[in-house]
Amino acid sequence: MEKIKYIFFDLDDTLLTSRVASLMAYKKVYKKFKPFRIVSEDKFLNICKEAKREYINDSKYTTYPRYLFWKKIIDKLHICVEIVDIVTVINMYWNAILENIETYEGALNLLKTLKRDGYYIGIITSGDFLSKARKLISCHLDKYIDGLFPTELVISDKSTGEIYQYVLDSLNVKATGCVMVGDVPDQDATPAKKIGFTTVLGTMRYGGKELSDTTMSSVDYSISSLDKLLNVLERINNERVS
Ligand SMILES: [Mg+2]
Repeated sequence: MEKIKYIFFDLDDTLLTSRVASLMAYKKVYKKFKPFRIVSEDKFLNICKEAKREYINDSKYTTYPRYLFWKKIIDKLHICVEIVDIVTVINMYWNAILENIETYEGALNLLKTLKRDGYYIGIITSGDFLSKARKLISCHLDKYIDGLFPTELVISDKSTGEIYQYVLDSLNVKATGCVMVGDVPDQDATPAKKIGFTTVLGTMRYGGKELSDTTMSSVDYSISSLDKLLNVLERINNERVS
């Protein structure tokens, strides 16, 4: 079988500490935007969590302004806001994200090494181009990325597998030469493995803990830190030579 030449990463909670940054951003918005302080911070954070879940369930992909997400929060709080307020909140949120988001340990070195070794490095991520590109730029990873593939390209959730097929078609490559690294098995592993990618689960967001056997059934390898991906690649490519 051919050697692996293409490495694709999910972005949020695989390369970047997005969940942490997101929580900090909600807190900042709560602190800065007075109409939200009609409820306690804890209650507001719970409403955000609920609205996010509903928004993700309703959406085929998420958009940069996430207007429907913020509208859910506003409706749940029964408050009236003007157009300018919505824009203010959206800007506050994204500025706070960019201020707080960080790479997982070893991300930059890993990308540098993969680049040096001649791999193609792509990002396959849920959502829109703009927010993901801004995160990459803010964390200084953008110059190592050969292709950024958000699900808005196919207007379909990652779990359908359409984005993975889109990537193969647009690069004109076979899945057998590709690895997908991500943190959510049914988004990043199952649909990719189904069409032939080798899949790697990064368990950094779970504190490096192994997940249950059922969850792991779609995953070929798991890594508890990003630097371990190099060993996995060496293992796969060595097996393919012999
Ligand atoms: Mg993720």
